[in-house]
Amino acid sequence: MSSIIRPIDWIDSQAQRMIELAEHWANINSASDNLHGLEQMAAALVDTFSPLGGHLKLIDLPPRDTIDSTGHAVQKPLGRALSIIKRPHARLRVFLGIHMDTVFGLDQPFQTTQRLDAGTLQGPGVADAKSGIVVMLIALEALERSEVADLIGWEVLINPDEELGSPGSTPLLVQCARRNHLGLVFEPTLADGSLAGERKGSGNFAVVVRGRSAHAGREFHLGQNAITAMAHLITELDALNGRFEGLTVNVAQVEGGRALNTVPNLAICRFNVRYVDSRHEAIMQSELEQIVRQLEERNGVRAEWHGSFIAPPKPVDAQALRLLEHVADCGRDLGVDITWRSTGGVCDGNRLSAAGLTNVDSMGPCGGHIHSPTEYLLIDSLTERAKLTALLLMKLASDPMTWLMTKNTV
Ligand SMILES: [Zn+2]
Repeated sequence: MSSIIRPIDWIDSQAQRMIELAEHWANINSASDNLHGLEQMAAALVDTFSPLGGHLKLIDLPPRDTIDSTGHAVQKPLGRALSIIKRPHARLRVFLGIHMDTVFGLDQPFQTTQRLDAGTLQGPGVADAKSGIVVMLIALEALERSEVADLIGWEVLINPDEELGSPGSTPLLVQCARRNHLGLVFEPTLADGSLAGERKGSGNFAVVVRGRSAHAGREFHLGQNAITAMAHLITELDALNGRFEGLTVNVAQVEGGRALNTVPNLAICRFNVRYVDSRHEAIMQSELEQIVRQLEERNGVRAEWHGSFIAPPKPVDAQALRLLEHVADCGRDLGVDITWRSTGGVCDGNRLSAAGLTNVDSMGPCGGHIHSPTEYLLIDSLTERAKLTALLLMKLASDPMTWLMTKNTV
């Protein structure tokens, strides 16, 4: 036990460095579409993670498909992912991952951190997930300082596109899932400090409606109004809420229209679907197909839908429960009460789980109001959660056979 305790205690000495790293990284704008900021962030991460050793590289991602404001399919570039693989031939191999992108674009006022009080840091991405990167880093540094480090292999992936649904990095996550025995993802805990258990699935879709332009005064009767047609469609999408247990549809964005004296010929609606059962995917797809076809027949417009399910639901199966319980055991050793509950939020933990990798995906710090201009981090949770992961890694390293999950490795 003594070989475990000393590196764990060392984490307390890193408290100041952890908060400084969290501030530094949160003050770099790395919105998913800010390629310059993502490059800056990746460079900072390379500097900080390099001393850990292992094989480090930045990986180019393929562009993502999206629908632009003219309703056409276009491709947009993504940032680069950071990969580090250490001791790939160890008997037990652990995946550790989190994202470097945030939802806060350069056009938003929320750009810098501020200390609200001695225990609270506010800022863009402080909890989701810049401090998660810090927690992961310090836990790995503690592991590497321990006598058991050589008994365990690890692989890190820090992706730049998670807030978009990991469109470019999902194939990398699938490879990571195949190469490792279990996974830890450093999303923040839920607002009450619980870990995430079951997670819903998620899908992002767009519907493009095309009508016919006309002068609103002279030839109104010749127009086909894409916006009013879209209004019908939106009402029908919204009516799906409550029809299927656990499935929700959130109409999130609507675009269309120009001059007030012109019948609009284009409307675009973007929406997100959350669901608990993978059978909901086929149901949603056929409902959407039907709504779009009926709209065309009834309103005389042309309509098409785009998009896909980006994260399957993540259940807590027997192995996931075993891993959660092991995390809770480590919490008990540290005097931290660890609980978990289900959430509608999705993350790369869903994608890893779908690819066969048992994982706990909220090993990051505690905080709240994520994705909002009041996002905050509870500073004390930085060392607390780094100790939790470090202890888990050291216990796994000390006793790999107990925890070796033999499935899903190559
Ligand atoms: Zn996140």
